[in-house]
Amino acid sequence: MLAELSPALIAHVQKAAKLLAAQQRICVLTGAGISAESGIPTFRDKQTGLWENYRAEDLATPNAFARDPELVWSWYQWRRQLVADKTPNPAHVALAQWQQSASNHQQLTLITQNVDDLHEQAGSTVTHLHGNLWRNRCSQCQAPYEDQAQGMSDSNIRFDESLLTCPHCDGYIRPDIVWFGESLPAQAWQTAEDAAAHCDVFISIGTSSLVYPAAGLAQLAKQNGAKIIEINPDPTPNTIVDITLAEKAGVVMPLLMKHMAELS
Ligand code: NAD
Ligand code: ZN
Repeated sequence: MLAELSPALIAHVQKAAKLLAAQQRICVLTGAGISAESGIPTFRDKQTGLWENYRAEDLATPNAFARDPELVWSWYQWRRQLVADKTPNPAHVALAQWQQSASNHQQLTLITQNVDDLHEQAGSTVTHLHGNLWRNRCSQCQAPYEDQAQGMSDSNIRFDESLLTCPHCDGYIRPDIVWFGESLPAQAWQTAEDAAAHCDVFISIGTSSLVYPAAGLAQLAKQNGAKIIEINPDPTPNTIVDITLAEKAGVVMPLLMKHMAELS
């Protein structure tokens, strides 16, 4: 695999490794692209099967749920089924190993926009900005709903499409996910802002950098003097990047770890 990589990419990876090896505080933001090689489609990918005529952006909103809760609920049940048997790829694994080995001389704060649990499965400690696909709550009184999907990717999860109601207030149960137009969880956002504002290097992996406020974290880091590394095979509107690693995360991350290990 290494032989297929361009000398320019390898040179950029070496430059990134050198930069990272010399710095203490690292903040990593991941998006749907890091889970693409695990077989989870990104949000910009066209939906398949029953859902090919819908756009994710039109289903993941409070208005869509208010208008047609059954439609939105069954879409999430379908997404849960799609994600349930997926496992971490080399990018998740490399990040988890780095985070675990970093504790002495480096601090790595991992923030994700993803609602899957592949970072956790790989062994990382991660802050979720956009919620968790495996949790539910009441759409009225916000109480957590424990019955469904407790066992994180457990094969016993039921994927029923019929709506559930809250035992406290009879409101409909919804996934505990941040929809378009909703605020991010305050504590998770605070963790992300602190990590971005105080890091030496900010690494953006597999995100289109289109959805705010998460997309603003790189700018916050840059304003506070951090260097920015981006890992994405395709260009993004992020213009403040110092080092672009234009390859799949599952290829770049293990290579980056290898070069960092050689420097230590
Ligand atoms: P995105 O789908 O907008 O972008 C994915 C990015 O990953 C793209 O830039 C793509 O080039 C890149 N990519 C693809 N394969 C890659 C690989 N192997 N390695 C590295 N990069 C790769 O995803 P996003 O940026 O995470 O979207 C932002 C947020 O928007 C999402 O996290 C989500 O919260 C929100 N959103 C949610 C829904 C929903 O269903 N709830 C729908 C749309 C958007
Ligand atoms: Zn309720």
